[in-house]
Amino acid sequence: NADTAMYHAKSAGRNNVQFFTASMNQAAKDRHELEGGLHLALEREELELHYQPQVDGLGRVIGAEALLRWQSPDHGLVSPPSFIPLAEETGLILPIGSWVLATACAQLKAWSGDARLCSLQLAVNVSPREFRQSDFAEQVRRIIESSGANPARLKLELTESLVLDNVEDTILKMQTIKKLGIAFSLDDFGTGYSSLSYLTRLPLDQLKIDRSFVLKLPDNVSDGIVTQTIITMAAGLGLNAIAEGVETEVQREFLERHGCHAYQGYLFSRPLPLEEFEGFVFAH
Ligand code: C2E
Ligand code: MG
Ligand code: MG
Ligand code: MG
Repeated sequence: NADTAMYHAKSAGRNNVQFFTASMNQAAKDRHELEGGLHLALEREELELHYQPQVDGLGRVIGAEALLRWQSPDHGLVSPPSFIPLAEETGLILPIGSWVLATACAQLKAWSGDARLCSLQLAVNVSPREFRQSDFAEQVRRIIESSGANPARLKLELTESLVLDNVEDTILKMQTIKKLGIAFSLDDFGTGYSSLSYLTRLPLDQLKIDRSFVLKLPDNVSDGIVTQTIITMAAGLGLNAIAEGVETEVQREFLERHGCHAYQGYLFSRPLPLEEFEGFVFAH
């Protein structure tokens, strides 16, 4: 906490103030370095997608979520929370997001020739800055078209805050994209400032129950109630529900008992590199 650090620094005298300033400079330097590395990550082909299986009530793989990984020569394997916010701030998320979508679509096209892989649905995360581009729908259309992927196999994950930011604009854009045959999932559902009235107006296909509610099931009573309510609401709105962060069999059992029949989490598999993911599908 910067305030606390400042307080300690001041109260402890001159040397600590210098130390504090030095550590601030270090943080700025780290950030600058990370940003520089991220700039080059695309052209150096250091980004890759991992695929986390999504399974149904019978344990069959019904799809995957594509999750970005950065194999940095300087920082090792960097996971999204360490660089997506920076990419958002700097605008680097735009070329990165295009790359993610194009790579996911190319993968769908490659899977279309295999009987076991062709029916999978692939979910791709879209960040606010990407979605807010005035020509986002057009970009999606172009990527789908040039990849030759079946749009029915693609699902875009949006977050509540993105959707609420400008509801009217969001609805129009979603409708345009839906006309292409692409589905929408509302990610991390329940963590945002949901106004339930807008939910009925969004052309959604799926609510994704946030990991934070699943984590303490079945013992935590209020998380259990929230989870049940989301499942009931999804059913009432004609949407399907999927739970993320399912780690234990008792969590899965609770979800199933309350009518949620799609799951994603470490209980089934971590996000996997492409070949391992395909191996997982063939083995299940
Ligand atoms: P998310 O979309 O909610 O993705 C789920 C996150 O939970 C992933 O973290 C996944 O590895 C992790 N996870 C899955 N199952 C479990 C589990 O059972 N237990 C625990 N503890 N964690 C689990 P990851 O890959 O680090 O991604 C974090 C976030 O970064 C994502 O959250 C998403 O918001 C963002 N992100 C990832 N890839 C992309 C991308 O290609 N584009 C954009 N814009 N954002 C991305
Ligand atoms: Mg997601
Ligand atoms: Mg999520
Ligand atoms: Mg999440």
